[in-house]
Amino acid sequence: MPRIAVLPSTVVDQIAAGEVIERPASVVKELLENALDASARAIEIDITEGGRSRIRIADDGTGMARDDAVLALARHATSKIRRTDDLVGVGTFGFRGEALAAIASVCAIEIETAAADGAGTVVRAAGGEVREVGECSRRRGTTVTVTRLFANAPSRLAFLRSPRSEWRATADALTSIALARRDVRLTAEHDGRQALALAPATSLRARVAALWGGAYADALVEVEDVSGAIHVAGLVERPGDAGTATRRIFLTVNGRAVRDHGIVRAAEAAYRSTLPSGVRPSLLLELTVPGDLVDVNVHPMKAEVRFRERWMLERAVEAAVRRALGTSASAPALGYRAWSVGGSQEGGVGTVVDTEVLRRSDDALGPLLDDPETGAPYRPERLPDEAAVPPLVQLRNTYLMFEREEGLVLIDQHSAHERVLFERFLGTLERGEAPSQRLLFPLTLHLGPAEADAFEEHQDLFTALGFEVEGFGGHTLLIRAVPMPHPRFDAERCIRETLDALAGSRFASAAPRHERLAATVACKAAIKAGDALSPGEMRALYLALGATALPAHDVHGRATIVHIPWDEVDRRFGRR
Ligand code: ADP
Ligand code: MG
Repeated sequence: MPRIAVLPSTVVDQIAAGEVIERPASVVKELLENALDASARAIEIDITEGGRSRIRIADDGTGMARDDAVLALARHATSKIRRTDDLVGVGTFGFRGEALAAIASVCAIEIETAAADGAGTVVRAAGGEVREVGECSRRRGTTVTVTRLFANAPSRLAFLRSPRSEWRATADALTSIALARRDVRLTAEHDGRQALALAPATSLRARVAALWGGAYADALVEVEDVSGAIHVAGLVERPGDAGTATRRIFLTVNGRAVRDHGIVRAAEAAYRSTLPSGVRPSLLLELTVPGDLVDVNVHPMKAEVRFRERWMLERAVEAAVRRALGTSASAPALGYRAWSVGGSQEGGVGTVVDTEVLRRSDDALGPLLDDPETGAPYRPERLPDEAAVPPLVQLRNTYLMFEREEGLVLIDQHSAHERVLFERFLGTLERGEAPSQRLLFPLTLHLGPAEADAFEEHQDLFTALGFEVEGFGGHTLLIRAVPMPHPRFDAERCIRETLDALAGSRFASAAPRHERLAATVACKAAIKAGDALSPGEMRALYLALGATALPAHDVHGRATIVHIPWDEVDRRFGRR
């Protein structure tokens, strides 16, 4: 007797179903995608017991003629592609012709459908077999009802979780489709209670507001960038808000919701140095790329895609998010949380600033307070385009204040300087040009054992930054040359405090070693709160901050710039 046999089709279908249909959420996703592929404008979803006992999805799409309705349940039956070539840049969610067959093989399914208002068809199937084909009357569109999922597949049934957690997964699937296809009206009921009622929305921000509230939506920063043929759009969390609420990740590629760690990582890389370690931002990103750069047919649930030129794509995403964060729209607008009561859904209090005014100077890494090469004192006439600097006032020797058309702006002088120095030091470490100045009298530093260890561990980086330091036996250091970031720079104190911070391992972050050192030295070398600044120094700081890549955030993820809209000021004075 032969040991090999070709499996009966019912078994084949159940095996295939295992790849497509994992739980109620996967049924909901497939049925919703079918409705959307059929050009539905409104979809009603009705779920019982997390989808374990019943899922019903009704749409107002194109519907099916009788023969198509029967054929739809067969494996590899699809109206969406005909040839393999059609796979390139396929515009519909479905194309494998597998979902309905897979669903039908593991539950009872009923399809009611009509291609025009009036006479329609009803098809009932169970265990993968069509049991009944009849007539019905209904409006144009399709209603698919799935009952008792996995009733005939006990091993699969055993893997389902409680109705509650199945519902949670289903709600996630709904949310993801609601974000991807915000043009469609979506309503959902779970166990007889309304769970979702979404009118068509005109923007991602509006859909986000409908899902999670206007305040949440208003606080997100808009991403909108084109590099080459790649378009990156979406909404991302301000660094200062990251970690304060549930983290939400949502990614579409050409309208298809997918998971992709590489792209998420690239977007997170744009937050480099603005977030404390372990804190990760919410990201809602929509990528549009030429169809021939993506292969959508690599995952049975189509939850992942494969990219040609992945590297290019990730770079585009990082650049786009970085640009978005570089605007001070991403700095917290004072009063956003406390004062904006029921703020508008679009362009609320939190999104009114742009740092373009800070950016008039193209003189990237321009002189701050002094000439970095020679340490020569600051000379106002060297500053570029001085007319672009508004009158600045120093408050409490801590903040610089100026006015703009939209409101009042405060800059934290220490945070701002820290950001400036961080980017300069990072540039020095990454590109290896270290302006340093020989000291007439070398400094001697006596260190504790932990600080000495920290020095040894980072000696190469200190050197790269422009410190010329010798170990001098035991725990004594001899400093012969130092970088000269500004005239007030106290090299001895900076090195001491940096080693102290490194030794205290308060920086156990995932950031690369050189970034950590650049951040620490920047923090220690920056002017402090309490330092009185001359008008020239204030202007220089203003311009240097404007020339940084991320002016709105310091290296710890705190704001460097706070914007108080006139609206808020007026409100406080009872003028509105
Ligand atoms: P695929 O979506 O990959 O084509 P499915 O098994 O999900 O495969 O569906 C098979 C076919 O049934 C589809 O190609 C489509 O023609 C038809 N169909 C399924 N659902 C609907 C619907 N809600 N409205 C209209 N046609 C549908
Ligand atoms: Mg489908």
